[in-house]
Amino acid sequence: MSFRTFSPRSETEALELLNDQSENILPIAGGTNVLVDLNQRKLAPRVLVNLSRIEEWKQIEPIEGGLEIGPLVTHSELEANPLIIKSFVALAMAASVVGSPQIRNRGTLGGNLQSASPAADCVPPLLAFDAMLTLVSSSGKREVRVSDFFLGVGKTLLRPNELISRITVKNYPNQISIFKKVGLRKALAISLVNLAVSLELDENNQCSKARVAFGSVAPTPIRAKGAETFLEGQIINYDIIKDLTRIVEQEISPITDIRATATYRRYLAKELLIELMINLIKNREEHKWPKPS
Ligand SMILES: Cc1cc2nc3c(=O)[nH]c(=O)nc-3n(C[C@H](O)[C@H](O)[C@H](O)COP(=O)(O)OP(=O)(O)OC[C@H]3O[C@@H](n4cnc5c(N)ncnc54)[C@H](O)[C@@H]3O)c2cc1C
Repeated sequence: MSFRTFSPRSETEALELLNDQSENILPIAGGTNVLVDLNQRKLAPRVLVNLSRIEEWKQIEPIEGGLEIGPLVTHSELEANPLIIKSFVALAMAASVVGSPQIRNRGTLGGNLQSASPAADCVPPLLAFDAMLTLVSSSGKREVRVSDFFLGVGKTLLRPNELISRITVKNYPNQISIFKKVGLRKALAISLVNLAVSLELDENNQCSKARVAFGSVAPTPIRAKGAETFLEGQIINYDIIKDLTRIVEQEISPITDIRATATYRRYLAKELLIELMINLIKNREEHKWPKPS
């Protein structure tokens, strides 16, 4: 197999390269998925567009009420960034358990999104934070909700001449969040189930906004909207957890594969939800965190 590689230094240059639709072109960021696919001959591009030198895509910038994250930000950078740790802790927690140190040092948030794995660890936190994606092509840009981005396993609504140029997350006062994955091993494990929960609570623990987002329980990462509606308006305490898990059970449709049965995944999803809700409530009781702003 032979291909040419181009390494654009800017978004504009990358988009110009992508515009040549006569070639079989593949963008590559950290390469952790693409190189495996090339090795296994699942992909046979004529041209690789190496995005990794586009400096403007490597930043995490505060904006009013949130953050803009460049698609080339790596998992290692996400897990260590003080702005992410302060306001988007579920995303830092997810990034910290992706693959291994080598994968976290190379793998990027943009690549995690566009790979469109149902088990992608950073996607449930992005769903929990209502992330918006900016998709650019040489004819302009469009904004899409991360919840609309995935069409199925390995499929997104990104067009062949488009790239993800920005991931925007908004934070709300008194928002707390958490993430956990369960795999067959402690490291280098694809999630059997993963879960991010984000709650906006007042001083009495009344919830004004809830997000519950699962991976590996459907063809794409999903929000459990029934659970969110149930939580909103409630005083969050241990008593509501049982009803919450009953609702979630109706909302997920996991499959059986070589890693786990659908029944086991259902069990894991419920147990994970119980564990994360208990952790959030305990944290809140012990530290009264986040402090009222
Ligand atoms: C051993 C191993 C372990 C792994 N463990 C995990 C894990 O625990 N959790 C997890 O979630 N993932 C895991 N992965 C998957 C992968 O490492 C991550 O999804 C990573 O974030 C992919 O990022 P990348 O930059 O390497 O993507 P690449 O491999 O460079 O690209 C992946 C896809 O995204 C596209 N792409 C990249 N950037 C852009 C962009 N800006 N715009 C449009 N398209 C783009 C590429 O064209 C390609 O289709 C693992 C992979 C390996 C090989």
